[in-house]
Amino acid sequence: MMVLNLCRLVVVPFATGPEASIAELTDFICAAQLSREADVYLPDDDLKPRYNGVSKIKKRKFFDICKKKNDPETETIRLPNPMIGFGVPSLQHESVNRSLPNSAIGAPFFYYENVALAPKGVWDTISRFLNDIEPEFVDSKYFCATARKRGYVQNLPVQNRFPLVPLPPLTIQQAFPLSRKWWPQWDAREKLNCIRTAIGSAKLTERIRSALERFDGDPPTSVQKSILDECRKWNLVWVGRNKVAPLEPDEMEMLLGFPKNHTRGGGISRTDRYKSLGNSFQVDTVAYHLSVLKDMFPGGINLLSLFSGIGGAEVALHRLGIKLKNVVSVEKSKVNRDIVRSWWEQTNQTGNLIDFDDVQALDGERLEEVISYVGGFDLVIGGRPCNTLAGSNRVSRDGLEGKESSLLYDYFRILDLVKSIMHRPA
Ligand code: SAH
Repeated sequence: MMVLNLCRLVVVPFATGPEASIAELTDFICAAQLSREADVYLPDDDLKPRYNGVSKIKKRKFFDICKKKNDPETETIRLPNPMIGFGVPSLQHESVNRSLPNSAIGAPFFYYENVALAPKGVWDTISRFLNDIEPEFVDSKYFCATARKRGYVQNLPVQNRFPLVPLPPLTIQQAFPLSRKWWPQWDAREKLNCIRTAIGSAKLTERIRSALERFDGDPPTSVQKSILDECRKWNLVWVGRNKVAPLEPDEMEMLLGFPKNHTRGGGISRTDRYKSLGNSFQVDTVAYHLSVLKDMFPGGINLLSLFSGIGGAEVALHRLGIKLKNVVSVEKSKVNRDIVRSWWEQTNQTGNLIDFDDVQALDGERLEEVISYVGGFDLVIGGRPCNTLAGSNRVSRDGLEGKESSLLYDYFRILDLVKSIMHRPA
C-alpha cells in the first residue's frame, strides 16, 4: 500500500525494489519530500555491486514507464540496475552497439543531461525532442567515490570510450585516507551519496558529537542507525573522534573531477561554491562519454555549451586532451561565468571563449553571427537548467509546465537553430 502511494509522489528507483523494507521506503519518501535540492537522497541500497561481471548483464534496457493497472494515470520510471548505461570502465558490455535514427546522425553532436529521477513526462519529452533517443542512465558512483544518478541523451558513438587518467579514488576511504582513523567500524559506507547544493548544519554535527560522547564504546544499534541516516542524508564524513563534518568545497571539487580550488577565490562565497558544485557535472563520467571525440577531432572542437555552470563539459574535454578551438558558453550566473573564465585563463587555452548570459536571448540572428565567426559547432552540450526537473523538488516542482522548466525547450530550440543554420546550402 505504502509503495502505491509513493508512486504518486516520487519515482521509485528500481533498486528500491519489492524487497525494500517499509523503513527504507519511508526514509526514501521523507528525504525526497524534504529535499528542495536538485538531487534526491537515496539510501545506499545499490552501492554494493550486485553484478560481478559482464556475463550477468544480458539485456540492456534503459527505462520502463509502467502504468499501474488500477490507476493508469500514475507513471513511475524504473531505472536500470546497475545504472551503467552503455558501460563504465569497470563494467563493460561485451559489445556495445546502438542504431540511431537517421535524423540524429551527423554534425553537430549533442549531449543533454538531466537528473535521472525526473518528474512524470520529463524523460519522454527530452527524448521526443532529441530524435527519440533513449536516455543513457549512469550513476557516477562507478567513476568516483560519490553517487550521481543522471540520464544523458546524446548522439555520440558509444564504442571505444576510455576513462580519464588517473582514475579517481573509488571509495571514501581512498578519497579521504585521513578520515580512516576516525571512521567507526559500524559506518560501512564506501561511497558518498549525491553531492547536493545544501550541506548539513553545525547544529546537526554537534548533536551527533554529543550523542556519541554519552557512550564509552560503540553506541547502541538504534543510535548508530539514526546517526548513519543523517550521515547518508548529508554526506557527513568523520574528521575526529565522534566528530562528523560536511564535505568542504575543495573535497567536492576533487570528487566531481574538477581541479582543486576551481570554484575558490575571486569573491565567490562558500554558499555559491556549494550551489555551483551541487549542480555540476561529474567530470569523469561526462569525459568517458565524450572521449570518443578525441580521435574524431584531432585538431580540436568548436563547442556550444548551454547552461555551462562551472564548466564541467569544458573541463572534461580539456582533461581528455581535446583542444578547445572556440567555446561559446551560455550561463546566466556571473559567478559561474567568472569561474569558467578564470579556469580558461589559468589553463592557458589558445582558443576563444565567448560568453553569453541568458539562453533565452540567444536567437537565430545571434547564432548566425556566432556560427559564421566560429564556422559551425561540433558539439552542443547542455544540462539540467533548473531544479524543477528534479524528482525530489517538491516545492517548486511543476514538471514541464513551470516558467523555469521552459528553459529545457531552449536547449532544443537552440540545437535546432544550429542544425538548420549549419545545414543551410551556402
Ligand atoms: N553542467 C553544468 C551545470 C548545469 S546547472 C556544470 O557542469 O557546472 C544549470 C545552469 O544553468 C546553472 O549554472 C544556472 O545558472 C544556469 N542557468 C539557469 N537559467 C539560465 C538561463 N536562462 N540562461 C543561461 N543559463 C542559465
